[in-house]
Amino acid sequence: MNGPNKPAPRPIASLSIDFDNKWAYLRAAGRSDWESVTSYLNIVAERVLETLGQFNLPLTVFVVGRDLKNESDVRAIESLKQLPAHEFANHSMNHLPWMHTMDQREIFDEIVGTHDAIEMSLGCQAKGFRGPGFSCPDEVLRVLGKLNYVYDASIFPTSLAPVARAVFMARTKLKGEQKEKAKKLYGGFAAMRNPNRPFRRTVDNHSLWEIPVTVMPLVRTPIHFSYFTFLASVSKLAAKSYLRTAFRLCRITGTAPSLLLHPPDFLGREDDQQMAYFPGMKMPRQEKLEIVRWALQLYSQSFDVHTMIGQSHKLLGGQATNNGVPNTINTTSDDPTSPDRENHLVQLTTTIPRSTLSL
Ligand SMILES: [Zn+2]
Repeated sequence: MNGPNKPAPRPIASLSIDFDNKWAYLRAAGRSDWESVTSYLNIVAERVLETLGQFNLPLTVFVVGRDLKNESDVRAIESLKQLPAHEFANHSMNHLPWMHTMDQREIFDEIVGTHDAIEMSLGCQAKGFRGPGFSCPDEVLRVLGKLNYVYDASIFPTSLAPVARAVFMARTKLKGEQKEKAKKLYGGFAAMRNPNRPFRRTVDNHSLWEIPVTVMPLVRTPIHFSYFTFLASVSKLAAKSYLRTAFRLCRITGTAPSLLLHPPDFLGREDDQQMAYFPGMKMPRQEKLEIVRWALQLYSQSFDVHTMIGQSHKLLGGQATNNGVPNTINTTSDDPTSPDRENHLVQLTTTIPRSTLSL
């Protein structure tokens, strides 16, 4: 609560959802009937509209091209235009989480196919891309450059990538070649050496923003809403304290956060039995929506939240650093591993009480 006085300025942030349909989850789980399962996009879209509308939150929607072939799914996706601010972005055609194993042609088709479908079905040009499974080979960036994209959002710089991948591999029923391909999910071990804040990348003379999915500064554990709801299914108190700490650390370290949602964040156990295997899906619907509402409200109070394209524009204009947040975003350097940044980060965080890092 800020009281009657002028509210404190909030750093720039962004919010997105990977609008993955049920078939994508069931295929990833190795279910042979994934193509025939029902869609939940209309239910999720309704709840997204209601929940985000409550806090006047904008949203970037990463759309899978395959869903744009179905009329009722197009209507569900289109309904998100009613949000206070929205952006439709590209999440590939078939949501195959192994783009790093694809040849040039396949990568081109996955990206351009969805780019065209978004234009045809939703009447807008996508300017951002996120690779399924956070897979981001150079060829992806080359195609994004040709399409004049403003940002890529396929990096997830978490220290838990090897753990998340191991859990995925243990649960999935994928076999043979597909199982081999899935071994680099979540960007491989190198992913956590990437910066935890937006940075510039240049490929074939085209410069674009790389906007990572923000993780906890320093310890690099995930903080996006799906991880939060998973933690909340174990302990709500611990999950809330964890998220408060994460937001505080983002502010202290000048990390402009970009957080993401997934459809299961808006679904409870009574909504979909087929999704029961997914982390956090044992929680009843009302409980889930309540905890997600709490987190979104905290996000909207802590940061000046934009769509991802909105955040990119703010970053280019340098406005993201005008809110009392240290200017650590180097808009001219293409070196994502600049040691200065990490040193600066460590300096800033040495003043944080140890207890805030213990979760
Ligand atoms: Zn996805």
